Amino acid sequence: MATIQIENGPAFSCGPHDTIMRAAVRAGHGFPYECNAGSCGNCRFELLEGAVHHHRADSPAYGERDQRRNRWLGCQALPESDCRIKVRLDAHYESTYPPRKLAAELVDIAPITHDISEFTFRVVEAQQALPGQYALVKLPGMDAPRAYSMCEVSDDGLTWAFQIKSVPNGKASAVLARLHPGALVDIDGPYGMAYLREDADRDILCVAGGSGLSPMISVARAAARSSALAGRAIHFLYGGRMMRDLCGEPMLQALPGYGERIHYHPVLSAQPLDGAETWTGRQGFVHEAAAELFGERLKDMEVYFAGPPPMAEAIKRMLHDNAVPQGQVHFDEFY
Ligand SMILES: Cc1cc2nc3c(=O)[nH]c(=O)nc-3n(C[C@H](O)[C@H](O)[C@H](O)COP(=O)(O)OP(=O)(O)OC[C@H]3O[C@@H](n4cnc5c(N)ncnc54)[C@H](O)[C@@H]3O)c2cc1C
Repeated sequence: MATIQIENGPAFSCGPHDTIMRAAVRAGHGFPYECNAGSCGNCRFELLEGAVHHHRADSPAYGERDQRRNRWLGCQALPESDCRIKVRLDAHYESTYPPRKLAAELVDIAPITHDISEFTFRVVEAQQALPGQYALVKLPGMDAPRAYSMCEVSDDGLTWAFQIKSVPNGKASAVLARLHPGALVDIDGPYGMAYLREDADRDILCVAGGSGLSPMISVARAAARSSALAGRAIHFLYGGRMMRDLCGEPMLQALPGYGERIHYHPVLSAQPLDGAETWTGRQGFVHEAAAELFGERLKDMEVYFAGPPPMAEAIKRMLHDNAVPQGQVHFDEFY
């Protein structure tokens, strides 16, 4: 167990296999972060005293300049001794439900599309999460966890479900394809800032592409059930390439208010669409569809989005062009 002292701030303990950022968040501190995979760089800190090494040696957000300045990524930095570090804590990153590491058993796998399935786990101890958050799941035989967003955490905090897209040649995707109910995994969560804001009294726009389905379904489900948001419309935009990619509508149809205040807007991007397809709906990218559908109204909406990096970049630009205040936009970058 190492003691980590933040310069001009609190000290906290970091357990043997924990990283400095995760240990800080567990202890209730607002250590900045986002992706938890060494890719975004938001959790960068300066090491003033002590020794650390990175769990992920090839972290994409870690460069030569960081090395020269003795900066490290909090989500990957494992302490080798007590440390003194410099980082600016921010209350925005304090967790409502501090993350915990829990053993879990896979209890169900249900296919959603040709490449997305829902994996449901039973955790050993109750843990709550906010709608839209994610967890780190360590699969059998893998040395590093993967971030997956929950589509649902049961009210008793014991059942956690994730909608996961299989990625060609992906390491975790290959493990998941072989997993059967009864398999044991480790879940560390919840993490993430893209959770439903029940105190924001605005119409809601959820935009999902591909692997972004899970957190957007979670946000839409919770918004539909929220009494604080009862008078608000919920628009769900889902983007896929072909018809076989489309999903999410049956989950929304199960919600009270579907077709009245809850609306599903599918959009397909393949150009040209496969000749065998008979698609008469919206074509293009989800950011274009959002701008076409809502235009001026966007700046009065609370916007949540999740999906692959190019989609996220295009949505950010589109929201900026439409003068949507940053405080109304919620996302955790996927990598
Ligand atoms: C915040 C967040 C939420 C996400 N939510 C979902 C979701 O709900 N559904 C979904 O399908 N996908 C989600 N993803 C993507 C998911 O985490 C994986 O990147 C994706 O499934 C591909 O994993 P793979 O192992 O199959 O592919 P691979 O190509 O083998 O792995 C790619 C990804 O794994 C991570 N990675 C690789 N090596 C390491 C390492 N040593 N340490 C830590 N991370 C490493 C990196 O993020 C990398 O981009 C999310 C990602 C993030 C960051």
